[in-house]
Amino acid sequence: MNLKTFIRDIHDFPTTGVVFRDITPLLKDPKAIKYTEEALLDLVGNQKVDKVVGMESRGFFFAPMLAARLNAGFVPVRKPGKLPFATMRQDYDLEYGSDALEMHSDAIIAGDKVLVHDDVLATGGTAQATCRLIEKMGGEIVQCNFLLELDFLKGKDKLGDFEVKSLLHY
Ligand code: AMP
Repeated sequence: MNLKTFIRDIHDFPTTGVVFRDITPLLKDPKAIKYTEEALLDLVGNQKVDKVVGMESRGFFFAPMLAARLNAGFVPVRKPGKLPFATMRQDYDLEYGSDALEMHSDAIIAGDKVLVHDDVLATGGTAQATCRLIEKMGGEIVQCNFLLELDFLKGKDKLGDFEVKSLLHY
């Protein structure tokens, strides 16, 4: 299946000059959902995974599916103030200003083998902050995987020695 045919390019969204890769056409098609799930699982191979961490909000589409298939738990990473229990926080720099991500403080147990999943790897700031949170909590990152990667933004460079895999490259 050519998954790229299910990705819609939206020019100048959310701001001028950005090409937004919209995955909702893929999510609307049951065969494409199934194909994507299997292909993302193939990227992981037979590595042991205890937790799948998905980032707000489009990481939430596939991360719980992957978790169920890998017999692992799902952990959401969210923008500040959204999670109800005690949280761990990671600040990170944006092109202009800064942002932060939070995870429940009991989400990762030291020694957990963790798969990080998001829809898009762009500059890598979100994934890098997520990996820092996981490592602060003693988790061991086995792979960061993405539906699609914007190669020209070199987000992979921010993820250092972690294994980074993406289904589609732009
Ligand atoms: P990053 O720059 O790697 O921190 O990306 C931040 C978040 O924004 C990711 O979770 C992506 O889901 C989303 N994102 C960034 N750029 C795009 C894009 N061109 N199209 C769709 N989503 C994007």
